[in-house]
Amino acid sequence: MQQIHNFINGEFVATARTFDKRSPLDNRVIAAVHEAGRSEVDAAVASARTALSGPWGRLTVAERVDLLNAVADGINRRFDDFLAAECADTGKPRSLASHIDIPRGAANFKIFADVIKSVPTEFFEMATPDGRGALNYALRRPVGVVGVICPWNLPLLLMTWKVGPALACGNTVVVKPSEETPHTATLLGEVMNEVGLPKGVYNVVHGFGPGSAGEFVTTHPQVNAITFTGETRTGAAIMKAAADGARPVSLEMGGKNPAIVFADCDFDAAIEGTMRSVFANCGQVCLGTERVYVERPLFERFVAALKQGAEGLKPGRPEDPATGLGPLISQEHRSKVLSYYEKAKALGATVVTGGGVPQMPGELAEGAWVQPTIWTGLGDDSPIAREEIFGPCTLIQPFDAEDEVIRRANDTDYGLACSVWTRDLARAHRVAAQIEAGLVWVNSWFLRDLRTPFGGARQSGIGREGGVHSLEFYTELKNVCIKL
Ligand code: NAD
Repeated sequence: MQQIHNFINGEFVATARTFDKRSPLDNRVIAAVHEAGRSEVDAAVASARTALSGPWGRLTVAERVDLLNAVADGINRRFDDFLAAECADTGKPRSLASHIDIPRGAANFKIFADVIKSVPTEFFEMATPDGRGALNYALRRPVGVVGVICPWNLPLLLMTWKVGPALACGNTVVVKPSEETPHTATLLGEVMNEVGLPKGVYNVVHGFGPGSAGEFVTTHPQVNAITFTGETRTGAAIMKAAADGARPVSLEMGGKNPAIVFADCDFDAAIEGTMRSVFANCGQVCLGTERVYVERPLFERFVAALKQGAEGLKPGRPEDPATGLGPLISQEHRSKVLSYYEKAKALGATVVTGGGVPQMPGELAEGAWVQPTIWTGLGDDSPIAREEIFGPCTLIQPFDAEDEVIRRANDTDYGLACSVWTRDLARAHRVAAQIEAGLVWVNSWFLRDLRTPFGGARQSGIGREGGVHSLEFYTELKNVCIKL
């Protein structure tokens, strides 16, 4: 049985207590994960604190940049290992993980290496009564030990999205990966040692949330800042934990993202983009679309085309090139998604396609599979239109006017992302400006320059990360005033 260890002060650490990691494909136990208790979390935080004032703290920015680039190269050198680990943990198709998860895992170190080496320093010259003046300049200093709490849907990608900028800014980290996807965070420890990252700069502790490693990290008084990606409810709990000690948080949380399809859109592009935004990663993408509003003249044609696309998605193993859809992450998550499939039927939805569990051959019958699902016939106030399901499913509704659809798209507790499909440039700008979300795509989805601000409005998040925006969270700005 594969053993997945904690990574503390440059060492792989076993513990007496382990938990099972099961494959989403067939529910088999594939690894024993060593759960960190309070003492391992204390050790990880202590080593991160010591590293701040050790060789790591004395590196120049240029030396840190070289190390970050070496980490990116190290991930690429071990590309196949990361790919195998990510696909084993999540069951996602290799075609997806090899194009998105692993390359972005490496890119997250390169981009922040570039950002940190080119960020300008603020400088002001001022007058003084004696006429000699003074100079002011701002220094960026690391915040200290950063707690990084990660979800399971894009494990390496979302973890490195936090670790990259944290290290670029000179911090040290204690990462708590999701209990569902422990593998790639520990594998990254091997890369950190291979490239010579000083001990204690990158630490990984495994476990769960409350009463386990997640809580121990977020309540630890020596953790100076907490960055989190996951469910809104968890983010709120973490915010409460961070209130003790008044520690800053950066929260990337849930969504209930709309797509707005105008009748003048490029139809094929809108279908292709919406297929990806609803079904990619089996619908387990925070930026995914769970509400589609289609202008009435196009409604029937759009529903028919999306149905045809959904029915063409073949569920299967990650390594099969024909696989269009992997399983959900776990049996527990499948129960949640299926409860919405039942709720939709009970509420009187028209099930355009799916709504149940596919027949899978052999041992795959035990996996966390669900059918890609499309509903029509429910209103904006139904739970299907309001609550995040996080599965391969969407509700499609018609609309008649631009003002109406903007109001309906904004009628949500969340505010993460929206995609707008239209050929009318003026309308694209008008709608984008009025959508209350952190990200608006026009005629695309999931397209992103990593230098741009990323984050959610309302209950989708607090703060922005990406490019220089990450520096606001991962550094303390200190003004130095020199009297001349
Ligand atoms: P989750 O909130 O259940 O878990 C996330 C992490 O928090 C896990 O590591 C978990 O162990 C830990 N945790 C749980 N309770 C905790 C507590 N009380 N204290 C400390 N740690 C705790 O989220 P998930 O199910 O892993 O991920 C799916 C969710 O993530 C969805 O809601 C999705 O929208 C969201 N998400 C958001 C973004 C974004 O960028 N906005 C990106 C990806 C996923």
